[in-house]
Amino acid sequence: MAKIIDGKSIAEEVKTRLIGDIDSLINKGITPHLSVLLVGDNPASHVYVAMKEKSCIKLGISSEVRRLDKDVSQEEIIKNIEELNNNKDVNGILVQLPLPKHVKENEVLIKIDPKKDVDGLHPENFGRLLAGNPEFIPCTPAGILEILEHENIDPEGKHAVIVGRSNIVGKPLAALLMRKAKGGNATVTICHTRTKNPDFFTKNADILIAAMGVPEKITGEMVKEDAIVIDVGVNRVDDPTAKKGYRLVGDVHFESVEKKVKAITPVPGGVGPLTIAMLLKNTVLAAKKQNFS
Ligand code: NAP
Repeated sequence: MAKIIDGKSIAEEVKTRLIGDIDSLINKGITPHLSVLLVGDNPASHVYVAMKEKSCIKLGISSEVRRLDKDVSQEEIIKNIEELNNNKDVNGILVQLPLPKHVKENEVLIKIDPKKDVDGLHPENFGRLLAGNPEFIPCTPAGILEILEHENIDPEGKHAVIVGRSNIVGKPLAALLMRKAKGGNATVTICHTRTKNPDFFTKNADILIAAMGVPEKITGEMVKEDAIVIDVGVNRVDDPTAKKGYRLVGDVHFESVEKKVKAITPVPGGVGPLTIAMLLKNTVLAAKKQNFS
């Protein structure tokens, strides 16, 4: 049976480590502040933003959520970003993704001041990451590195297979795992919808990261014995027996994979809590950099 990696408790450790920094900023008259732009009425996004806000408050980070209508123009979103860029009390800006279809994500994200880009998705931060000199690391990949480190899993020399090539997870994670640095040095393969015979790659993974958004796609036959499996997916599947009428599952078929591998992250309670913890960490980092460097 696999070790079930407890993302919640790892996230609590990350947050506990932040308390000293937050207190010392507050003592100097600086309360770290995160502003979130939430556009539209995607139910999952509303849940994620509420969780982020709650975590900020719990730790003493101030936070504001600007809720914009789903039909808002791209210009109006950018106007909001510029206001936040110009507000010296705002340390971090997060645009909750996905944005409505009529909005061009790249044209919006590029407007965030890179020094306040706590999601690490501005091209400047993305470029720095690829060049091996990251400043703000996107929160989910940063959380995955935190999990590996906590579990004493050194990627060096291992074959890491990432299924999914999104800007928010797959691409930055590949850059981090292949970096010539501690926590990197893996041999990285990325699979996506055009990959022929993905099973060939997943079966060869020492570390398998599933970030597709396809419920329970990775099954026991697709993984190697003793692999480490990180399940990023969060999918709602109908379940009339559940109170809300649905339940959350990952991209990994937990029951069949858990029997075979060495360690696995559950959904919920795996990568998700770390994503939030790393957002808080980036916000504190932004506040420190804006005031002391
Ligand atoms: P995304 O932007 O939709 O990207 C999905 C990626 O998976 C794409 O590269 C796509 O390939 C690939 N893909 C889709 N179906 C596939 C298949 N059958 N075989 C191989 N590759 C496939 O998604 P995302 O934003 O990265 O999110 C992925 C999942 O992680 C979602 O469930 C999301 O909710 C979850 N997520 C969780 C957290 C967290 O904190 N736990 C954070 C972010 C995301 P193509 O490029 O070829 O289309």
